[in-house]
Amino acid sequence: MSAMTSNEFLEVKELLSVPKNIVIVPHRNADGDAIGSSLAMYHFLNDKNHNVKVVSPNDYPNFLKSLPATESVIKFDKQNGQAKKAINKADLIFLLDFNELGRVGNDMQNFLEKYDGIFIMIDHHQQPSAIAKYLFSDTSVCATAQMAYHFLENIKEINAITPEIATCLYTGILTDTGSFRFPNTTPTTHRIAAELIEKGADNAKIYNNIYDTNSFSRLQLLGQALKNLEIYPEYKTAFITLTDKEKNANDFQKGDTEGIVNYALSIKDIIFGIIFIEDVEQKIIKISFRSKGSFSVNQFARNHFQGGGHDNAAGGRSDVSMEETIKHFINLLPQYKEALNNSYEE
Ligand code: 5GP
Ligand code: MN
Repeated sequence: MSAMTSNEFLEVKELLSVPKNIVIVPHRNADGDAIGSSLAMYHFLNDKNHNVKVVSPNDYPNFLKSLPATESVIKFDKQNGQAKKAINKADLIFLLDFNELGRVGNDMQNFLEKYDGIFIMIDHHQQPSAIAKYLFSDTSVCATAQMAYHFLENIKEINAITPEIATCLYTGILTDTGSFRFPNTTPTTHRIAAELIEKGADNAKIYNNIYDTNSFSRLQLLGQALKNLEIYPEYKTAFITLTDKEKNANDFQKGDTEGIVNYALSIKDIIFGIIFIEDVEQKIIKISFRSKGSFSVNQFARNHFQGGGHDNAAGGRSDVSMEETIKHFINLLPQYKEALNNSYEE
């Protein structure tokens, strides 16, 4: 835990007491937590008369576009001039739901490295790098949105939570906890969720907007993914692949692969689930890792696939072909046999 001291919270409160130009940055390929936290902070700061811009490295899935003020988000890759202008004149930059600058992608990383103002980082990923003057991080917390709630608590602004802010924070918590089912969902998480509902988050509507807005082609893509599932019971491992061709054949849209990896982990006795997705644009295989129990996919992703994340949910990449990536992956399994078999002893 990189707890900020009460003095530091006072400093931040002081900083926010006069109108400022503020930029909020989520990670590349933002998920519900990254964009939910960002828009929650956007509403909070905007309500306090700051001039606020959310600058996202790139676009994010359509199922997150019912969030209030989603239309105001500037995409660094597509609206580059506007994004750079906002960053250049920012007095403060919030970095939300990531902890190393590489997570915003090369171009935006290079640009942010030249920024010499104040960074405030709110995050819950492991091993935060020292980029920010103010680092508010707790790796045991389920979502950055929950951290953002604690941030507001620490600067004594819980009463400033509007229905818009509540909706955004609830979305972050809902998505990062897998709808309140992952083990990092604590009584505190439920208490905060309850309070957010009291403050105007419409929980049923939010769930519907996120999870019950599938297109027909997305379900066909899921069907393809499930057909590709391979299982290695001796390693308690199951993985899914999706090639570019398969994505195109099913009218792939951004966000369509979100959550598919969980099907690998839903198989009885499987504790290590992976999805390998070919990304022709970035010329990589993007990988999502999930685990149950003590087997750390954060460590696995860091060690072998240029990635990281949390103990039970991490991501990474491979620069070789799908076939070679899979071969490399399968070759790694024997050295983890014991760790995989001992991960989830009940
Ligand atoms: P997902 O598999 O859903 O993309 O990501 C799972 C978790 O791992 C998220 O918390 C995400 O921020 C993190 N993550 C995903 N890809 C990467 C990566 O390439 N590097 C690092 N450090 N973290 C990642
Ligand atoms: Mn998160």
